[in-house]
Amino acid sequence: MEITANNPNLKSWIEVPKNSDFPIQNIPFGIFKTNQLTPRVGSRIGDFVIDLQSLSVLGYFENLPFELSDFATNSLNPMMAKGKKGTRELRNRISKLLDANLTDLQKNEHHVQQVLIPVDQVEMLMPVQIGDYTDFYSSREHATNVGMMFRDPANALLPNWLWIPVGYHGRSSSVILSGQAIHRPKGQIKPDPNADPIYAPCRNLDFELETAFITYEGKPLGDSITTEEAEDFIFGKVLFNDWSARDIQTWEYVPLGPFLAKNFASSISPWIVTLDALQPFKVQGPTQVPEVLSYLKYEGQKSYDIALEVLIQPEGQKETVVSKSNFKYMYWNMAQQLAHHTVNGCNVRCGDMMGSGTISGPTEDSYGSMLELAWKGTKPLKMKDGSERKFIQDHDTVIMRGYCEQNGVRVGFGEVSTKVLPAK
Ligand code: MN
Repeated sequence: MEITANNPNLKSWIEVPKNSDFPIQNIPFGIFKTNQLTPRVGSRIGDFVIDLQSLSVLGYFENLPFELSDFATNSLNPMMAKGKKGTRELRNRISKLLDANLTDLQKNEHHVQQVLIPVDQVEMLMPVQIGDYTDFYSSREHATNVGMMFRDPANALLPNWLWIPVGYHGRSSSVILSGQAIHRPKGQIKPDPNADPIYAPCRNLDFELETAFITYEGKPLGDSITTEEAEDFIFGKVLFNDWSARDIQTWEYVPLGPFLAKNFASSISPWIVTLDALQPFKVQGPTQVPEVLSYLKYEGQKSYDIALEVLIQPEGQKETVVSKSNFKYMYWNMAQQLAHHTVNGCNVRCGDMMGSGTISGPTEDSYGSMLELAWKGTKPLKMKDGSERKFIQDHDTVIMRGYCEQNGVRVGFGEVSTKVLPAK
């Protein structure tokens, strides 16, 4: 089925501010509520949230494979359960309702007033009931930088890295929404390598610049998803700050990998931008040498040009941009990640979330973590207020933004913003 909603020539009868992340070509999905309205499914255009529950009640979703209960609910899971065909039809329909050349909705002023809500009047909620959360380690630059710092600069990449999209199983209970503050985690750290570990608040709190994709229902246990099929099982993407306690990580990670250094909080942006909306921004991925094993081979373009940035805002001060990166730098693409995840027969479910892994680019100002940007604390970053950062301090807010742009169409994610409070 054609994705009519992606037509770059479409204009809406709703005014969209210049440089908005949410033109008519985006049509993301999220969950919102207001003082009057119960939690429900919404979309977004410009500075308005679109109430899909009300559109359904008013009959605008006739002949689509959805029921009112798919929208009158506090997660996108029931809607996503209808699969890619269903959500593509739905997005095409919403696009028609917003199209300046079509009058079905715009001619009906009462309906317009009911379904369009100024964005400053809504509270965004967790969009998805996340089942399992997996995090990958798919940026060659990031893996190389970390290998250089902690192991051997001459053999920075571990022998498996160019063969396997390396990943680990994370924890979904601590995935939180943008806007929710976190407390500095506590745990075991070993600041003096020659002394016993101590129990203390983390001293090396870090962000990880990532995106994450959300899956539709996969295949039954025992079956695998191919790279060719993979994108049919991906609903959409969010910005993802995978908080990390580097000092806890250093002490705990051998031999089983990340644990308490990673599961105290992971923040996502509220709007899920569909993989359909990102199709016009596909690009060729990096050449993979050595040639990957057969189940990881893929045809066509599977990488996406998504400009990303990270900012730190000290309490009461201006934001400072600390990194500008791009999702296109990733060595392993989402199709390969999902094919690898299921190659052993592991089943993926509706609402699972897969982190990309920290996204570091080739230059020093495009790294995706403080660990790399300040190179293990040896090159502190200057903030606009004159202060310096080796890692994230209490009362800092970390903000990530991302968007795609081509031929005058900008499709963006908004932001994920999280403030760090002192340890409890
Ligand atoms: Mn991560």
